[in-house]
Amino acid sequence: MKKINVFDTTLRDGEQTPGISLTLNEKLRIANKLDEIGVNVIEAGSPITSNGEKEAIKAIVKEGYNAEIASFARIVKEDVDAAIDCNVDSVHLVVPTSDLHIKEKLRKTRDEVFNQAMNMVEYSVDHGLKVELSAEDGSRSDISFLRKIFNESIVIGANRICVCDTVGILTPEKTYDFYSKLSDLIVPLSVHCHNDFGLAVANTISAIRSGATQFHCTVNGIGERAGNASLEETVVSLNALYNDYTTDIQINQLYDTSRLVARLTGVYLQPNKAIVGENAFAHESGIHADGVIKNSATYEPIMPEILGRKRKFIVGKHIGVKGLKQRLDDLNIKYNMNQVNEIFNKIKYLGDLGKLVSDVDLQAIADEVLEFEQEKKISLKELSIVSGNKVIPTASVKLKINEEDILIADVGVGPVDAAIGAVKKGISDFADVELVEYHVDAITGGTDALIDVVLKLKLDEEIISARSTQTDIINASVEAYLSGANRLLENRENR
Ligand code: MN
Repeated sequence: MKKINVFDTTLRDGEQTPGISLTLNEKLRIANKLDEIGVNVIEAGSPITSNGEKEAIKAIVKEGYNAEIASFARIVKEDVDAAIDCNVDSVHLVVPTSDLHIKEKLRKTRDEVFNQAMNMVEYSVDHGLKVELSAEDGSRSDISFLRKIFNESIVIGANRICVCDTVGILTPEKTYDFYSKLSDLIVPLSVHCHNDFGLAVANTISAIRSGATQFHCTVNGIGERAGNASLEETVVSLNALYNDYTTDIQINQLYDTSRLVARLTGVYLQPNKAIVGENAFAHESGIHADGVIKNSATYEPIMPEILGRKRKFIVGKHIGVKGLKQRLDDLNIKYNMNQVNEIFNKIKYLGDLGKLVSDVDLQAIADEVLEFEQEKKISLKELSIVSGNKVIPTASVKLKINEEDILIADVGVGPVDAAIGAVKKGISDFADVELVEYHVDAITGGTDALIDVVLKLKLDEEIISARSTQTDIINASVEAYLSGANRLLENRENR
């Protein structure tokens, strides 16, 4: 097994993601987690960026982690001095090597850049820093110039070298060829890939196969433009798809790490993101769910538990009866076949409206269906609402109470208030059911969300909660109220 080192740049390249700016405490929390999961090198930031950045790097250094703490530096004395001032273990010294960068960006010659780079390697080494010399835009650089820079830097004392595919233009084949031309150098070779074409992880692995022993990455693949190679995807791929590589990373902490970084950076993941996306171990289709229940390997490449995750069965329109029964069993919901069919039909109906049904939704739907079976004293026959600007919200309802139709109306501060008021009035001869609490939640996104209304109702001294889940908030409120009132009345009778 070949040991591959993980150089994490979430706090440097990752923080250069448009819109991300981390506070000192947030940086510390991320660094803490990175150290805990076994990252070998943490690039803590670029100290000349700001005072805050410098303080954050100093604070990270003070934690005394197992991981090596690196500071980013351009090949200028000011940058290396700032790194020295932070007391970091190493400097990630970045030298632009492509003619495009040398001529257009720096307006210099190759010789000038070469000399400047060697001076800074020497200066860093002299000040007790480990040096990882990185070739910026290395993948678009002349290989003989690269070899010259790397060879000379090694003589001076550079500890590691790195080639950056700064704009992500490599392919796995080109990466293999390119890094092979450098793998004979006598210090560890590192790879730094960007994801402009979605190939960052594939290219990183290709470089490792050609001899690189360290890779740069970020949690969730955040970073400039399309981001960097993702830590979790690279580590888990090496672990699960190759037999000859190992890392120090605790794979079962990767999901937690991903969520921490997503939360603190505010960059949330696409649901279909590999390894850590919400859907990475979610199954909806009846065929797939059935297969996974029998043997998870049928539709899962690895067990989610390995990553500290759980598989999810999404109850949507593609679910089969078997998958649904499994979900109901998991949720400890008792049912008969009629009820399963009714729940099944409701889910298909919601699915056709474009809804997914989470466990919470399923619980609510099941509650409603299971309730249906009981005989109801009070049921809703009609409900109409008038509401709007400069109109007093008014509700009129027709209730059937003990085989008798009752028609009532009421006004309120809003349509829900008016509707509940009317229902309450309608049954007041019968029972004074008091509304103790009202809670509403849109459990799916969008203005066409599934609305979950949960109420607490009181009759005599008994308090119960009731709920209804529908797309219409007023209907849901009235149905929840009636379902609770029916239960309270039944309980009263039984007393
Ligand atoms: Mn980069």
